[in-house]
Amino acid sequence: MKVYLSSDMEGTAGVVDWGQCRGPGAEYDHYRRLLQDEVNAAIAGAMDAGATEFLVNDSHSSMQNLRPGELLGGARYLSGRHKPTYMMEGLDASFDAVFLVSYHGSMGGPSSVLSHTYNPAAIARVRLGGVEVGESGINALVALGHGVPVVLVTGDETTAEEARAVCPGIEAAVVKRSVTRFAAESLHPDEACALIRSGAAAALRGLSSARLPAIELPATLEVTFRNADLAEMACRIVGVERTGVLEVSITDADPVELYRTFVTVVLLTRGIAE
Ligand SMILES: [Zn+2]
Repeated sequence: MKVYLSSDMEGTAGVVDWGQCRGPGAEYDHYRRLLQDEVNAAIAGAMDAGATEFLVNDSHSSMQNLRPGELLGGARYLSGRHKPTYMMEGLDASFDAVFLVSYHGSMGGPSSVLSHTYNPAAIARVRLGGVEVGESGINALVALGHGVPVVLVTGDETTAEEARAVCPGIEAAVVKRSVTRFAAESLHPDEACALIRSGAAAALRGLSSARLPAIELPATLEVTFRNADLAEMACRIVGVERTGVLEVSITDADPVELYRTFVTVVLLTRGIAE
């Protein structure tokens, strides 16, 4: 059994501030260790359920937050910037399941620690098929394209709810309760890791009944930007339609192509976001 793991950082138990998620510095070094422990807890749980092969795609910031030699399970490590399929780089149909570890809520949704949707300076909200989605829902497009179910998400309650809306039946390890975008009540790191481990094992034991993301094709992503300049620039990309002063829309029958167009929008608008 082969597991693909996409790791972010904002959803780790104890994390409540950007300074804890961005290096260099002692604070970042402390919290990246907690992230590493949560990633390893997910791998350990997967091994409990019989998984034997792992790819960890580091998806946070400059995407080099983990120590490759400390990953459990002989996991391969996909790290570094400018990946064309970004938070889902490396996923293909050879995998049996997708884990989303240390994820966070969407910019447009209820309060969630460090919530954003790819770029907090550029993107105000994203809807998929009319439903408000965060990174979990957007990234599920790639899983759908390769026919691999998303079976585990870890993070706060908001993140779990947003993932359930797109990935029905997903196992959620809720390791903190967000109070605001910058405050949360977290489980002790040991408790968080125990919960993630048991959640990962349960997710894979239920794999035979796991469903693919509930996204109708062709699918449409509607993106609302924080200002008109960003929408104006984004709609120069092939396949991106301007639908309002702040809005663009992307429709594609191929969910991976849809995701890649969205990633191109993210990368292009990053250059002019404040
Ligand atoms: Zn992140």
